[in-house]
Amino acid sequence: MSKNKIESKREREKRTVSLMISIYCEKNHGSGKTLCPECRALKNYAMTRSEKCPFMETKTFCSNCAVHCYKPEMREKIREVMRFSGPRMILYHPIMAVRHVIEIKKEKKRLSQSQSRDTSGKGKANE
Ligand code: SF4
Ligand SMILES: [Zn+2]
Repeated sequence: MSKNKIESKREREKRTVSLMISIYCEKNHGSGKTLCPECRALKNYAMTRSEKCPFMETKTFCSNCAVHCYKPEMREKIREVMRFSGPRMILYHPIMAVRHVIEIKKEKKRLSQSQSRDTSGKGKANE
């Protein structure tokens, strides 16, 4: 993947996460157009994580990341946001929601392929 593509993927991820946090905050904290301090801190944190993510080229979701660079408290918060806002995105931003679903499908396929590779590769180390 070219550097430009990686950067546009990073920007897309940041936009998606921002939107999800906005939806969550508006519905749960009644904050309207501006984020409450807690969600603002979460957004800043998530943006920094995306900026520094070393797996941008290959990653789909942070939830499947083996490293998971989020500190536990923020990880819990972002999970809650994803659970809440994921299904609601279709109302607010259908294109982003469709992309999100495509990413989920790709991730499932990738995981099942790597699982079958793991299984078929078993025992090869002893050959
Ligand atoms: S959790 Fe993993 S994929 Fe997500 S930003 Fe951190 S290192 Fe990157
Ligand atoms: Zn909030």
